[in-house]
Amino acid sequence: MKVYYSELMVADIGRHTSPSSIKPGYVAEALRASGLPIRFVEPDPVSAEEIALAHSPTFVSQILSGEICNGFGNQSADVIRSLPFTSGSMLCAAQAALQDGVACSLTSGFHHAGYSHAAGFCTFNGLMVTARYLLTKGYVKHVAIIDCDQHYGDGTENIIKHFGHTDITHISFGKWYHTAKDAGAYLNRLRKMESEFTDNRPDIILYQAGADVHVNDPLGGVLTTEQMRERDEIVFSMAKRLGIPIAWNLAGGYQRDPDNGISTVVALHMNTAEIACSIFVDGNGL
Ligand SMILES: [Zn+2]
Repeated sequence: MKVYYSELMVADIGRHTSPSSIKPGYVAEALRASGLPIRFVEPDPVSAEEIALAHSPTFVSQILSGEICNGFGNQSADVIRSLPFTSGSMLCAAQAALQDGVACSLTSGFHHAGYSHAAGFCTFNGLMVTARYLLTKGYVKHVAIIDCDQHYGDGTENIIKHFGHTDITHISFGKWYHTAKDAGAYLNRLRKMESEFTDNRPDIILYQAGADVHVNDPLGGVLTTEQMRERDEIVFSMAKRLGIPIAWNLAGGYQRDPDNGISTVVALHMNTAEIACSIFVDGNGL
C-alpha cells in the first residue's frame, strides 16, 4: 500500500489542542517500524489554481500570502508552506488508489474548511480539492466521501452545495452519531452502505478514518477501539468486494498521553493501516 507522506506536510505550531500538523511524522515513524507492507511516496504539491478548484481564489491567495488566519487561528509560515503538500498528498493517494485499489494519505485537517473560510483546525479542504480535481479532469464520474471523523464535515458540505454537485455522495457520520449510545446505529449505518453503493456505485471512495470517534477522545466519544476496528473492516472490505478504489486519511484524534505525547492516537491509526493492508495487500505487496 502506498503511503503519501513528506516532511513538508508537517508544520510545528507549538502546543495546541490539535496535533494534526505534527501527527503525520509520528504515524510515518510508527508505520516504518511496523513491518506492514507499505511503501512511502513523496506527494506532489498542488498549485494555488488546483486548490482554487474547491475554494474561492481570493480566499486561497489570502491564506497563502498570510493575510488571513489559517484553520489553527494563526498565520504561521510553517503551516502555509505545508498546505500544498497536505492537499497534494490526498490527491496523490486518490490517484494511486485508482491504480492500486487502495492508498493512504497521512493527512488531517480538511473537512471543516468551506468554500471561502477556514475553521476547526482545517484550512483547505483536501477532500474537495481531490474530488473536484478528479471530477473536472474526467478521471471519475462519481466520488463518495465517507467521513468517519467524530465531527460533521460541514466545510465539505458547504463546498458541495456551493458548486451544486450531485456527483459527490457525502456521508458524514459526525452529523448523526455523537455518544457511545450511538455505536450500534453507527456500525449499522456503515453496513448499509454496501447495498447503497451496489445500486449507485461511486468510482472512488475518500475515507476519513478519524481517531477522534474513540470513546476516550476529549473531542469525541462513540466507538471503542474494537468497534473502530470493526468500522475499518466494514469500510475496507466493502470497497474490496465492490471493487471501488479507496484512498484513506487520518483526520482527527485528540487523546494525549500523560507526557502530552500522542501514542494512543497513533496506535488507533495504526489499527486502520493494519486492517487496510490485511484486506487489500496480497503477496505482491501492492
Ligand atoms: Zn474531528
